[in-house]
Amino acid sequence: MSNAQHFKVAIIGGGPAGIGVAVGLAKRGVGPVVLIERRTEIGGTPMGYRKKPGGVPTFVEWTRGRVVFGEELAGRLAKRLALTDTAIRLSTQVTKIDPAEKRLTLLGQEGVCDITADAVVLTAGAREQTPAEKGWLAGARTSRVGFTRHLTGWLDGHGLLPARKPVVVGSDLIAYSAAAKMRDAGSDEPVMIDQRRGPSAGLFERFFFRRWTRPDWPGGVTAVEIKGDRYFVGIKSNDGKEWPGDGVIICGELVPNTELALLGGLAVELPSRQLQLARGQALSQPGWFAAGNVLGGFHGAQWCYFNGRRVARTVSHFL
Ligand SMILES: Cc1cc2nc3c(=O)[nH]c(=O)nc-3n(C[C@H](O)[C@H](O)[C@H](O)COP(=O)(O)OP(=O)(O)OC[C@H]3O[C@@H](n4cnc5c(N)ncnc54)[C@H](O)[C@@H]3O)c2cc1C
Repeated sequence: MSNAQHFKVAIIGGGPAGIGVAVGLAKRGVGPVVLIERRTEIGGTPMGYRKKPGGVPTFVEWTRGRVVFGEELAGRLAKRLALTDTAIRLSTQVTKIDPAEKRLTLLGQEGVCDITADAVVLTAGAREQTPAEKGWLAGARTSRVGFTRHLTGWLDGHGLLPARKPVVVGSDLIAYSAAAKMRDAGSDEPVMIDQRRGPSAGLFERFFFRRWTRPDWPGGVTAVEIKGDRYFVGIKSNDGKEWPGDGVIICGELVPNTELALLGGLAVELPSRQLQLARGQALSQPGWFAAGNVLGGFHGAQWCYFNGRRVARTVSHFL
């Protein structure tokens, strides 16, 4: 006999989308609901973008027509969650799912346990694709080479600027946000390396970041190797040129965080890693749903919150 705790709905991930689902379910009187978050606090990716004087706010709060720090926006959403009866399990990772039984295996401070639910919503967000996944960028991996998420940890988390002369690989919105953060913290204007002729960030986005950064843009250059040692790290490009610096920030493309779904046998398209969706953001097994950036498409935090609210309606109809 199973002694797994049972919930009406289990939500995997405590970012804006997961919060939206929990708030939406509470408004419909659905319970008990559990929200599982592997980090130590609620709020998801925006929580890493801390508020500091003179810093770079990069999250658009379109209901108020303002640009704010991720932490501010996530904090406001988390307050709405606190008004509900949702059971919140922090520092707890969902390590395995059994879609047919709607059973989740959780690894937390108290060890491993299983829970079951009548419906499960996957709101695990997106992550940067690693160079290994993309199949490029050989060479050095020193402490001065990192992804945007590392930069956020160093800079927003600990106030540490990883490079005075940074080279940024990639040219999307996140690359501009990384460049702006480093400039604001006192770095030189970064060199931005991308194989495209023009930056992949749109005109409006580049205009937004002009206040902080106007990166050097060689354009049409493919990064093939990270060259360097402990102090000097730069990029070698396909034309044999070197772009020296003292740190490299790699802005990988975003991919949906669907490993758990893949491992559990939910239908996921490869190589895009997109979840296969039926109506109302239902997944391939009955009782499984998804919301937010795990769906791909990569929207802002507030969009993900409202998307979660919408999915809560579908879930309540299913129940
Ligand atoms: C690197 C990066 C930078 C970004 N920068 C910006 C920006 O500057 N401005 C902007 O507007 N938007 C930015 N975004 C987009 C922003 O992340 C989204 O707007 C929003 O956070 C998506 O909400 P979400 O709830 O779908 O996912 P997330 O906010 O990513 O939340 C997902 C949550 O699920 C948790 N989780 C995942 N797997 C598990 C598991 N197995 N068990 C338990 N918990 C789990 C994660 O810890 C996380 O807290 C960025 C995204 C990324 C990835």
